[in-house]
Amino acid sequence: MIVKERRKPDQMLALEALQRRANLRRDEIEKDLLLARAGFRGEEALNYHLQQIPPHSHILHDIRFAVDELFVQLDTLLLADNFITIIEVKNFTGTLTFDEERHQMIRTLDGKEEAFLDPLLQVRRQKNYLRKWLNAHQYTELPIETLIVISKPSTIIHTSNPSVIHSAYLPFKINELESKYAQRVLGQNELLRMGEELKQAHVPRKIDLLQKYKIKKEELRVGVHCSSCSTLPMLRGYGKWKCTYCGYVSADAHIESLRDYRLLVEESITNRELRWFLQIDSERIARSIIQSLNPVGKTKGRRYRLDFL
Ligand SMILES: [Zn+2]
Repeated sequence: MIVKERRKPDQMLALEALQRRANLRRDEIEKDLLLARAGFRGEEALNYHLQQIPPHSHILHDIRFAVDELFVQLDTLLLADNFITIIEVKNFTGTLTFDEERHQMIRTLDGKEEAFLDPLLQVRRQKNYLRKWLNAHQYTELPIETLIVISKPSTIIHTSNPSVIHSAYLPFKINELESKYAQRVLGQNELLRMGEELKQAHVPRKIDLLQKYKIKKEELRVGVHCSSCSTLPMLRGYGKWKCTYCGYVSADAHIESLRDYRLLVEESITNRELRWFLQIDSERIARSIIQSLNPVGKTKGRRYRLDFL
């Protein structure tokens, strides 16, 4: 049962928005977007293997919550009445060597060696945080297992640690753990509550790509972009937006552009900022666009919420 679905991460959506709207650092943005997309594809590929695990598991994807004011992010979490599994997905290519003495992971690709933060340490930290969170919320103590899942079948893994596996092995690994933890510890109600409470505890990561790439908001390309071909700006006439490049016509293309604003600039907007970003002259049209957003939430100083887009 899926409690929390995997959606396109905001960071990837923001990179897509920036690719449309940045005049500067385009190569860097393009490269980071390709990496983000590959990572997301790797996580999505896991879904197929997760279909084969016992149905009593409650699955939460991409979950980030605070423990003692520090955040922990988990790619996938499996909750069951006998044990919990933390899954960390890694999308590396080449050959991976896990050096457990020095706590590093070495990747060899095209004859070049590179060291990365040890995923085994990462999942250990995740496990500690999750344990703390569960204790703080007074859940019955359950065993927590951690797995590092390598998503690319062509990646060669060097380690004797049984918790590092290729994704195709995941269902078999879960079956092994099922036999190890044959005893059911948690009641169904407590299990359901745990999944719901973790889902509610999720706090999306705040991203500030403009700061990361040192781009000022005034340097962004503004206007409504075409949902079909991404060209901007679309022109407005008779209450509709029209793409001058591909001819696509839409009454609500501005919504996607306001999402770009949320992802890149701020989670709320004023009438004036909206007119600038969407390149609308009329205050009245800007107001009607704001009113058509659902729900219209006003914050202080006549700012309108965009966080639901
Ligand atoms: Zn177009």
